[in-house]
Amino acid sequence: MIYLDNHATTPCDPKVIEAMLPFFGETFGNPSSTIHEAGRRADNAVKHARQQVADLIGAKTKEIIFTSGATESNNIAIQGLIKGSNGSRRQIVTTPIEHKALLNQCKVLSKEDWEIVYLPVDRMGTVDLYEAKKLITSNALVVSVQIASNEIGTIQPIGEIAKLTYENGAYFHSDAAQAVGKIPVDVNQMGVDLLSISAHKMYGPKGIGALYVRGGAYAMPIKPLVHGGEQEFNLRSGTLNVPGIVGFGKASELCKEYLVEESEQIGALRDFLEDKLMESVDVQRNGNLENRLSGNCSFTFPGIDAEALIVNMADFAISSGSACTSGAPEPSYVLEAIGLSREEAFSTIRIGLGRFNSNEDIKEFIIELFSSLGKLAGIAP
Ligand SMILES: *Cc1c(COP(=O)(O)O)cnc(C)c1O
Repeated sequence: MIYLDNHATTPCDPKVIEAMLPFFGETFGNPSSTIHEAGRRADNAVKHARQQVADLIGAKTKEIIFTSGATESNNIAIQGLIKGSNGSRRQIVTTPIEHKALLNQCKVLSKEDWEIVYLPVDRMGTVDLYEAKKLITSNALVVSVQIASNEIGTIQPIGEIAKLTYENGAYFHSDAAQAVGKIPVDVNQMGVDLLSISAHKMYGPKGIGALYVRGGAYAMPIKPLVHGGEQEFNLRSGTLNVPGIVGFGKASELCKEYLVEESEQIGALRDFLEDKLMESVDVQRNGNLENRLSGNCSFTFPGIDAEALIVNMADFAISSGSACTSGAPEPSYVLEAIGLSREEAFSTIRIGLGRFNSNEDIKEFIIELFSSLGKLAGIAP
C-alpha cells in the first residue's frame, strides 16, 4: 500500500519509536513520584520533551500543557475559557471550515445560550478579513480559527485575525494540528493566546498532544474540565502518558530540524503530481493555491464518483470529499462552505503527501489514477 493520507494521520518516525521504547519498559516511573529515582527519571524525560515541544513553537516550557491530542486541547481551550469567564461576553467566533473537534463543541454550546458566530470564507477557504472586522466585536469571549485546513490545506491570515480579536478584548485560539511541524509556527509572531497541537499529525504517536497557553495556565482565566491529581499546572489532571510525551518531544525536535527542507521536497512532489494531472485530465484544484500546506491536494474530477475511484485504487490510501457518518454519504461541509456543489464534493479526493513519500509513489499513483479515471469516465456520480 502507498500511503497518501497524511492529513488523517502520519506514520510514526522510526527515530520517534526508538526514543519511546525504553519508556514502555525499564523507565516506567510516574513523573509525579519524584521522591525516588524511578519517578525522577520519568520526570526528567517529560521535562526534556516539554522543552522540545516548546522550542518548536517558540514557547516557554510552562506554557505547554500535555493533553491526549488536538481534540482535547480544543475542548479545554474553548470550554476552559468559558468556565473561567464571568459570562458577560456570550459569543464564540469561528469559521465553518474548522475540524469537528472545534465545530461539534460549538453545536453543543449553541444549545447552552452561547451564540456561535461564523466568519465567512471565500472560494479558496480563506477568511474574509473585511467581514471579520465587522463580525468580531466586544461580545466575543474567544475567537478560534485554525492555522491550516485538514481538507483543502488553506493557510489563514492568523496574525490579522488575532489582531482584530485583541482590539476587541477577546482571546484568540488556533487549532494548529495541521500546521505545527509543517510550516513555521511561532506563537509570539502569530500572536495567539491558545494553540492546539497533535503529535500524530507530525510523525509522532497517537493519543498525545498539547495546548499552548500564553503565560501558562495560572496566568490565564482558564479552568480545567477534568479534576484529579493536579498535573499539568492543574489544567489537565491524570498521570502523564510518558512514552507518548517522549515521542511527541522527539517528533518536535525532528520537525524543527527538517521543516524547511522537507516542505520544499514535499512541495516539489505535489507540483509534479499537479502538473501531470493538469496536462492530461479534467481536474479542478481546491484551496488557496498561493497559501497552502505543501502536502495538500484537493482534486475535483467533474463527473467522476470519488468513492468509486478510491475503491478502484485499493493499493493507495487516499480520502474522499464526503463523510459517511450515519450510513448515507454526506458531502464534506468544508467543500460546501467554499461553494462546491454536492456533485462536485462527491467528485473530490484529498491527497496528503508526507515525509515518507517518494517520487516513485507519485509516479505509480499517476499511472493508477489515469487508468481508473479511464474506467470510470461516463459512470455518473
Ligand atoms: C487531526 C485533527 C484534529 C484532531 O486531533 P487529535 O489529536 O486526533 O484529537 C483536530 N484538528 C485538526 C485540524 C486536525 O487535523
